[in-house]
Amino acid sequence: MSKDAPTLAKKSRVLILGGSFGGFYTAYHLDKTLAADPTAEVTLVSRENYLLFTPMLHEVGAGDLDMSDIVSPPRQVLKHAKFLEAEVERINLDERKVTLAYGLERWHKELFYDHLVLALGSETNFFKLPGVEERALTMKSLGDAFYLRNHALALLEIASLTEDDVARRAMLTFVVAGGGFAGTETVGALNDYLRAAKKYYPALARADVRIVLVHPSAVILPELGESLGRYAQGKLTARKVEMRLETRVSGYSDQGVELKNGEIIPTLTLIWTAGLTTPGIVESLPCKKEKGRVVVEETLEVPGFPGVWALGDCAWIPNARTGSPHPPTAQHAMREAAQCAKNIVAAIRGGEKKKFAFKTIGQLASIGHHTGVAEIMGFHFSGLIAWWLWRGIYLAKLPRLEKKVRVALKWALELLFAKDIAQYVTLEGLDRLERRIEYLRHHPLVMAQGTPTRPPEQALESQPQRGVSNA
Ligand SMILES: Cc1cc2nc3c(=O)[nH]c(=O)nc-3n(C[C@H](O)[C@H](O)[C@H](O)COP(=O)(O)OP(=O)(O)OC[C@H]3O[C@@H](n4cnc5c(N)ncnc54)[C@H](O)[C@@H]3O)c2cc1C
Repeated sequence: MSKDAPTLAKKSRVLILGGSFGGFYTAYHLDKTLAADPTAEVTLVSRENYLLFTPMLHEVGAGDLDMSDIVSPPRQVLKHAKFLEAEVERINLDERKVTLAYGLERWHKELFYDHLVLALGSETNFFKLPGVEERALTMKSLGDAFYLRNHALALLEIASLTEDDVARRAMLTFVVAGGGFAGTETVGALNDYLRAAKKYYPALARADVRIVLVHPSAVILPELGESLGRYAQGKLTARKVEMRLETRVSGYSDQGVELKNGEIIPTLTLIWTAGLTTPGIVESLPCKKEKGRVVVEETLEVPGFPGVWALGDCAWIPNARTGSPHPPTAQHAMREAAQCAKNIVAAIRGGEKKKFAFKTIGQLASIGHHTGVAEIMGFHFSGLIAWWLWRGIYLAKLPRLEKKVRVALKWALELLFAKDIAQYVTLEGLDRLERRIEYLRHHPLVMAQGTPTRPPEQALESQPQRGVSNA
């Protein structure tokens, strides 16, 4: 089917790829309108079966919140739209077809669409620096935050038994690359966590714990301007975070993290937050791109591909007011999603499609120890008041009342009690998990699915058919 051929399907099929701020909220808005209409079908596909509230990710990494506190499963939020947990493997814009892979054996399923929403976000960019991708931790997914907490506690446990001074110091040195929001918030939270946890490890000397932030410019948090960046820097330094400014990580080997200025920091932990890129599947699409992101019109439509829309971090959305694209933030992706949903409804039911317009309201960062920095509508805030603003604003933004209550309670309890230092997964536990996955992989029922691996009920869907829906 060519991209211009009229669809004869009875239902208007809207397929949304990516379940984060862009995709989840597009589905959420359509759920209240189009998805409830029997002549339409809205399907959301994502790798994870939850929306991850990234602004609070560092709180999970540093033991303030639990993993389930900051996620919202679309299955519990969407009433009409369908959800599929799968990997998007191929997107064929000419045939209006998307191939998904799911399960341990990556079985395939093909879906056809009338409207496709690309909300596949961004991925970590390691810039091909030697050893970094293989050895560094990242701070983008829920797994990353869980792993960081577990890894930090595992190192405290091992270090407390290690007699070799050099090895112990390397174990207790944590380097974060990138002084943007993700890096700075991670450093602040991790510093608080490790220093609070240390008191339960009497065998460790306070001076052994080192947290280092590496940032290429003279001032961190460039998005918030120089004065707030310097304030954050001063506060972190006062709490013993070491700054390595105007230099970059150039590699990571068994000797440690190598900096461009020649310094080598012996460590077993580099947390890489210093770059993002567009996922390969988006880059490979035959539409116009700018820095890897899909160029869209102000209505969020992809030019030359009717019925294809893009938003969030993977889209290059022109901003007529500034002449630059809209920035890749959750704040923007959520608003783009609302506009995209309205425009899809207008495209299907008839109506005027509107241009996306939004001005950043403000930006906030929590830098640990009940301190924050914020710029809201041109006004600058710092210290305790900015920290309260951060907590209040993000608590209000966190989806679902249940999660808001949980987080508010945990934050209140945290003022009274010490942070928990339970290491959830030990090395032995990891080993058992691996064996369990292998067992599942070789289970006769799993094997019976065979390898071209398409479950029988999907045979019909492998061909574009009139009136056949994706349900
Ligand atoms: C640690 C951290 C803190 C942040 N803090 C803030 C903040 O305070 N304020 C703010 O405004 N922004 C913040 N951001 C930025 C914000 O999270 C992003 O701008 C926002 O998540 C972009 O949403 P998105 O939907 O475009 O893409 P993403 O969040 O990148 O999500 C993409 C989605 O697509 C899915 N996906 C990707 N490829 C595939 C595939 N092949 N198959 C199936 N699914 C796929 C992913 O699993 C994911 O669900 C932060 C980001 C991080 C990492």
